[in-house]
Amino acid sequence: MYDFLLTPEEAALKREAREFVRTEITSDFLRRMDNNDITYPREFVEKLAERNLRGIRFPKRYGGREMSWVAEVAATEEIGCLGMALGCAFVMPSIVGEALNTFGTEEQKEKYLKPYLEGKLVAAEALTEPRGGSDFFGATTRAVLDGDHFTLTGQKRFVVGAEGADFFVVYCRTNFDPNCHKYQRLSLLIVEKGPGVETEYLYGLMGCKGGGTGRLVFRDVKVPKENLVGELHSGALCFNQMMIPERLTSAAGCLGMWGALDLAVRYSTRRKAFGRHIRDFQAVSFMVAESVTQLDAARGLAYLAARAVDENYPYARRLVSEAKSFATQSAWNIVNNAMQIMGGIGYTDVYPIERALRDTRLAMIWTGTSQIMNLLIQHEYYNQVLDPAYDRRKMEKDAMHPDESERCYTDEDMWEVHNQPAPRRSI
Ligand SMILES: Cc1cc2nc3c(=O)[nH]c(=O)nc-3n(C[C@H](O)[C@H](O)[C@H](O)COP(=O)(O)OP(=O)(O)OC[C@H]3O[C@@H](n4cnc5c(N)ncnc54)[C@H](O)[C@@H]3O)c2cc1C
Repeated sequence: MYDFLLTPEEAALKREAREFVRTEITSDFLRRMDNNDITYPREFVEKLAERNLRGIRFPKRYGGREMSWVAEVAATEEIGCLGMALGCAFVMPSIVGEALNTFGTEEQKEKYLKPYLEGKLVAAEALTEPRGGSDFFGATTRAVLDGDHFTLTGQKRFVVGAEGADFFVVYCRTNFDPNCHKYQRLSLLIVEKGPGVETEYLYGLMGCKGGGTGRLVFRDVKVPKENLVGELHSGALCFNQMMIPERLTSAAGCLGMWGALDLAVRYSTRRKAFGRHIRDFQAVSFMVAESVTQLDAARGLAYLAARAVDENYPYARRLVSEAKSFATQSAWNIVNNAMQIMGGIGYTDVYPIERALRDTRLAMIWTGTSQIMNLLIQHEYYNQVLDPAYDRRKMEKDAMHPDESERCYTDEDMWEVHNQPAPRRSI
């Protein structure tokens, strides 16, 4: 659908991903994931690797395809119908890979990125701590540089792949100067699973099951100095870069809720009430209209944001946050409508809508909550509009009576106005 937005290569990739979800992933696999019979979907990762579907954007010499951000969104939209846990396993190379590819050394790319994209290694990202995820720069996990290694201590919460991953990218405090700016506090380290790196707790989740989400504890772990990604204390740079794929893929995965909407559409053409197919009730078909409109609007934003990143558009970060916020909220509404269209049976596990609902709720929380997205969006837009270089028409002048003496913004303005003779206004 909407392949006219894509280049022929991007459209071909989308078809590949569509065919992959239709033929390679069995319903039984999804059920076992949701039942927690699978702790981490390694089999899925290996299948993706066989099809060269990991690392779509990364250089071919590391096993990627060197394609665009738009291509990645297109493929993720197809994979998204498999649910959050598999969607997450699909996009994680884009997130972890972004840090390694942009900031990593050649040795790090050979040792970690390449086997990761080839499906030989699995990685996870460790940002959130029990003390909080939104206040990312307040991280307390610490790494002290001592000769040729760091000693890492602390813990991270809600790490998807805590169980299952071979290595982690871990943000930790390395600058202990109490006066340093928060953007100069953290560094990013590659930490291999091994002695001192323990998965202490696996969370019982509402949805997104089977991804090995747990709490990681680091007890005086010796991390070689060569595993520092980017410069010392420059974790903020890595974080800002990683948040592009992190949030864009959250948006793109939510476009996968076309699957739930299609299911409800088909159901409404078979189910009868009062002797008529329920699609004939506008109350039902209008929920479909509302859902597909939201889905298309979310698609529009997600592809726009991806193209903005491809083009290095200066406000791409705002668009990515908008896409994340809007697509995740839309996905929730779409699945909720699908459940409403199906009535009571939609609430049971006779259909997978209840699983989609449980999954989708997470999207508004992880990779930065909707509230944090709004913080970023407003901040970027204020900066844009208030930039002296912003050269658009200012509507203030277009009023019928653009009377500056009546334009009062502060207490001081009021006193200034009152101390001036009032200009006469003719109507
Ligand atoms: C299933 C699951 C998987 C996850 N996977 C990963 C992973 O792989 N790696 C990883 O590092 N993390 C992961 N996370 C963590 C996730 O990103 C965080 O849960 C999220 O960022 C929110 O952090 P928090 O839970 O600590 O909530 P808090 O930061 O404590 O926020 C609580 C509430 O306060 C609001 N709030 C906080 N600060 C502000 C503010 N300044 N302005 C307005 N509102 C604010 C939030 O919006 C939220 O509503 C995962 C979480 C879950 C549940």
